[in-house]
Amino acid sequence: MIVNIVLENKTRVLDRLFSYSVPKELQSNIKRGLRVIVPFGRGNSKKLGIVVEIADSPLVDVKLKEIFKLVDHEPIISEELIDLALFMRDRYLSDLSSAFQRVLPPGNWKDLEKLIYLNEETEDKDISFFFQRPREYKSAVERFDEDIINRLIDEGVLKEKYDIKGRIKPNLVEYYTINKKVEVENKLKNAPAQEKIFEFILENGPVDKKTILMETNSSLSSLKGLVEKGLVSSELKNEFTKVTRDYKKYSKISLNNEQQIVLKSILDGDKNKFLIHGITGSGKTEIYLQIVEEMLNQGKSCIILVPEISLTPQTILRFSGRFPGKVAVLHSKLNQREKLEQWQQIKNNTFPIVIGARSAIFAPVDNLGAIIIDEEHDQSYISDMNPKYVTREVGEFLSEKLNAKLVLGSATPSIESYYLGEQKDYEILNIKNRATAGVLPKVNIIDMREELKKGNTSVVGEKLHDAIVNNLENKKQTLLFLNKRGHTSYVFCRRCGYVMNCDSCDVSMTYHKYNNILLCHQCGRTKKKPEICPNCGSKYIREFGAGTEKLEEYCYENFPDAKIFRMDADTVRTRQEYLNVFDRMNQGKIDILIGTQMITKGFDFPNVTLVGVIAADLSLNVGSYKATETTFQLLTQVSGRAGRGDYAGEVFIQTYKPENYSIEASKNHDFIDFYNMEIEHRKLFKYPPFYTVFCINISGNQRIATRQKLFELQQHIQAELRENNIKEIEIIGPNPSPISRINNRYRFYTFYKYREENKKIKEIFKSILVDNKYNVDLQGYKLSLTFNPTNFI
Ligand code: ADP
Ligand code: ZN
Ligand code: ZN
Repeated sequence: MIVNIVLENKTRVLDRLFSYSVPKELQSNIKRGLRVIVPFGRGNSKKLGIVVEIADSPLVDVKLKEIFKLVDHEPIISEELIDLALFMRDRYLSDLSSAFQRVLPPGNWKDLEKLIYLNEETEDKDISFFFQRPREYKSAVERFDEDIINRLIDEGVLKEKYDIKGRIKPNLVEYYTINKKVEVENKLKNAPAQEKIFEFILENGPVDKKTILMETNSSLSSLKGLVEKGLVSSELKNEFTKVTRDYKKYSKISLNNEQQIVLKSILDGDKNKFLIHGITGSGKTEIYLQIVEEMLNQGKSCIILVPEISLTPQTILRFSGRFPGKVAVLHSKLNQREKLEQWQQIKNNTFPIVIGARSAIFAPVDNLGAIIIDEEHDQSYISDMNPKYVTREVGEFLSEKLNAKLVLGSATPSIESYYLGEQKDYEILNIKNRATAGVLPKVNIIDMREELKKGNTSVVGEKLHDAIVNNLENKKQTLLFLNKRGHTSYVFCRRCGYVMNCDSCDVSMTYHKYNNILLCHQCGRTKKKPEICPNCGSKYIREFGAGTEKLEEYCYENFPDAKIFRMDADTVRTRQEYLNVFDRMNQGKIDILIGTQMITKGFDFPNVTLVGVIAADLSLNVGSYKATETTFQLLTQVSGRAGRGDYAGEVFIQTYKPENYSIEASKNHDFIDFYNMEIEHRKLFKYPPFYTVFCINISGNQRIATRQKLFELQQHIQAELRENNIKEIEIIGPNPSPISRINNRYRFYTFYKYREENKKIKEIFKSILVDNKYNVDLQGYKLSLTFNPTNFI
């Protein structure tokens, strides 16, 4: 018997699978996902690994060493997640350890401690006593025989769970219960303090010490007295930290016709993959809730993904309010302990529902019934770190493996997903109307070149200005969206043309007025704003462009009586701060909310009737093939924030490019119209979904040497393409990246455009770039490989 193992490692050299043989006595216990200890290297030092594959023949033809021993009894991850890690390695050309890091428990799996705890009562007094609290496996087998422990685990009397070694102690809390076997008789006579406590515990079941003492206003000695009399007994429980707010009940709504048809198609259809295309407010979330309900009825669990968990409190509230006590929430602000606790509780099936950002798709749920990806077009669903996975594709993988439903939802689906729907991979389900009476807002496109001709150079044009005045008079709320933080975009000398750039990056610095500094948005370096031009000494050094701070300034000057708040990465840093803004909006304590992308997601306030987009062109100028799509999505999403309640909404989009089709299409909220134009462009210019764009990025300390290194790799690739007679591939580069230097590292890229059907091309990339077939010395360089990059900086 042979197993292939991934080793615990941090180095490139060990980043592959290793084959080992399994000694006879271990063979019956071997499973994929178990940790094992193996001999490694010349000295046969002990190394930890995970069994990834059980194979008939070794990966390479050498004499195999034998595994030393098994660490776990039960796999620490499921076979599907192992397969998923291998899939990601191949699909995204990720290194193996990053791919496995995603699917393994949070933290370092080397430090995972196996804890054994009592699952069922047992007659064996010694066992019950010893396992009053969870014990390390090691100390358990020291105390009892290993065979006994393993048998009890098999019988379900004991169970395994994982904790992080040493660093995190279980949070043990004493719980008290009434001892039923003991007669009360006269034991509480003349002991009113004890009687009070007794009554309290009797009424409230197992209660923790702190609560008892607080609620009954008693002393610890009274409680101890009860224990001594044998009337109550205590037990240590491992208390999990609560990571979510307490929730208000959110009752079930009966679905309207359109919603019912969609729900029925999903639950009864023979397809497993669906794309719900429904305008904002069409009741998609309500459909998700009912899918989840059905899955729970079938004893299955669900994963719900939202773009940025901290930015979607409303969605979480609705799920937790509908399914109290069943929802795990995973977000990036959790600390290591909280992450692990959530992981454990999901694995133990305490929480059959998991809500989180993209990485929640790797949650170790049991019996997966459905994966729901809300706002599926959102760019946050594409990982920018290894493995650079596309969440939709991971969902497709799991859906096929586990026969689970995959449901994507959006008002503005991504071009790729919609294309898949048209190709019949997905079933497209449409919802055309808003669930509540509200209609979509009227959208006005404002040509800012006209404003300029009239001599109006302020950030807010005349029409939007008047609309704000009007809206304030009507006591309604306004959202102003500008996707640029800071005060002004750059500082520039009008005499010599000098631009204040960052010393370490090739970008201009942004002026932040509130602390009067120039800030580099790439590396965070700051500079004082100069009074005179550092180049020619003239006084004519001025700020240009507008950011949220300048917009805020405009509002304070022009609407002095309004309650104004600016929301961007400078003013809102924590989840709590975010929730505060959210509450203040709900309570009507803000009249005008100014913000960056932060305000485009998950904001649903009935009193918002006016939305202004200050510079719609910003996102068009980012130079990615996704730019037009992103702009359309952004404009549609922001527009959708207006008129969610009983009042009609209006939107003003200020732009210098009113003729761009992404802006035109957003005027009519017409996704299909936009899709038809965009898909033609993609075909014409050879972009996804028709062609794959593969981008090799390199960075290094020296400009010329870095470019040379990329060129060297490229020559190997081109040579192999020629050898294999592959001509249908377009190569663009090496070119300096749009930001050609960040943090003093020079950056270059090359694009390869080709059709994915030609599998050989990817093999060539892999052998040269991942396995480094030609031993190119990459010391000091950082190589980054991306398929279909959405972000070109
Ligand atoms: P989406 O997720 O498509 O943006 P939501 O599910 O958030 O839409 O629904 C928008 C609003 O309409 C919510 O306030 C929701 O409670 C309400 N709603 C949804 N479905 C119904 C329905 N069938 N009847 C009445 N109200 C509904
Ligand atoms: Zn100058
Ligand atoms: Zn910088």
